[in-house]
Amino acid sequence: MKSVDLLIVGCGLAGSAIAWQAHRRGMSIAIADRNELQSCSMVAAGLVTPITGSRAAASWEWHLFFSEASHFYPWIEEKLHGRFWYSEPAIRIFLSEMERIQFEQKWFSKTSLSPTTPTAAPIETTSLSGIHAPWGGCSMSPAARLDTHAYLSKTREFFKNRTEYHECDVDCDSIVDNGSRVQLSSIGISADAVILCQGVESRKNQWFAELPLHPARGDILTLEKPRQVEVERVVHHNVWVVPTIDGKLKIGATYNRHTLDGIVDNRPEVLSWKSELIRRWEGVFEGNIQSSVVLDHQAAVRPASYDRHPLIGRHIASSRVFCLNGLGSKGTLMAPALARIVLSTILNGDALPPQLDWQRPLRRIKKT
Ligand SMILES: Cc1cc2nc3c(=O)[nH]c(=O)nc-3n(C[C@H](O)[C@H](O)[C@H](O)COP(=O)(O)OP(=O)(O)OC[C@H]3O[C@@H](n4cnc5c(N)ncnc54)[C@H](O)[C@@H]3O)c2cc1C
Repeated sequence: MKSVDLLIVGCGLAGSAIAWQAHRRGMSIAIADRNELQSCSMVAAGLVTPITGSRAAASWEWHLFFSEASHFYPWIEEKLHGRFWYSEPAIRIFLSEMERIQFEQKWFSKTSLSPTTPTAAPIETTSLSGIHAPWGGCSMSPAARLDTHAYLSKTREFFKNRTEYHECDVDCDSIVDNGSRVQLSSIGISADAVILCQGVESRKNQWFAELPLHPARGDILTLEKPRQVEVERVVHHNVWVVPTIDGKLKIGATYNRHTLDGIVDNRPEVLSWKSELIRRWEGVFEGNIQSSVVLDHQAAVRPASYDRHPLIGRHIASSRVFCLNGLGSKGTLMAPALARIVLSTILNGDALPPQLDWQRPLRRIKKT
């Protein structure tokens, strides 16, 4: 058996953040992942947005999470000589007079106290080139986008070259904690501790079957960019629109708690989400735009929780088994800081902030 400090199961946004934070500390690791092309993290748009939701609130614990993420991803870019973190303001178009007033009262008079303080400044509608914006809009900063596919591919390649990445489907029930080590014999690894970063898949094994996840499927489309459409920044309208590095557009996303798979087929509900996204996208512009050519339709299930906060910590009975989960719709923003926090618990026994601990009391909403 090869002996390492930490075994990581799953290499999405959660597992890769743990891998990098452990690597940074000089720990020896073994990562095991199925290498699925359509995992939640691979499908994600990677948006990091400071002000979200219909109440125009600052994203939860923004300062903590953004301060970490805005150093973490550029550090990896430098290390891997890659480009996947694009830090630039995002545009939000107001969808009602009420929304405009809310932003005006909450944000427009606020001054920025530090580079990570969320700000929103009104923008001239004339600068919006054809975007339907009768109530105007604003520019939100700081904001960013992670090209998750590029980041995860490069990350896996890096750890593969160090023989620390194993492409395999782990039977987590075969992980043994013998009191002094954990062992996964199928890949010949013995470790001080294991952390399960499996997203919604975690419910299928004995360790964290009880994790209070409240998952939600999301669908996203890749479109050919119509000739008359100019979109240079991320735009949040009735859908969000993301210009990609290869000149296409991504639009999304739907949110559904009933169909909990990431399969794209001809089921009526799947076709209706696709049409719904196209309908909303066509409403982003004034007048008619050239019909939309859909290049790809992807879907995945977000590992969301009941209170929309992460679920991290130690297994109830086994002190060497941990999880990092519940990233919901904000995996890009939250994973780097959460990975650092859970590593401190693993290495030093530091107590977890109660609002992150997966064993906190949670009010579960009844399934309808
Ligand atoms: C349509 C859509 C759009 C989104 N947009 C955004 C966005 O703009 N910004 C944002 O921050 N977030 C976004 N999200 C949410 C984001 O994708 C999640 O927060 C994040 O991906 C969760 O990461 P994770 O690592 O916990 O889980 P996952 O991405 O599910 O990773 C789990 C990994 O573990 C592997 N695995 C599981 N079980 C096993 C096993 N037994 N053996 C081996 N490997 C295993 C899987 O293959 C996978 O690679 C979006 C999600 C969707 C669906």
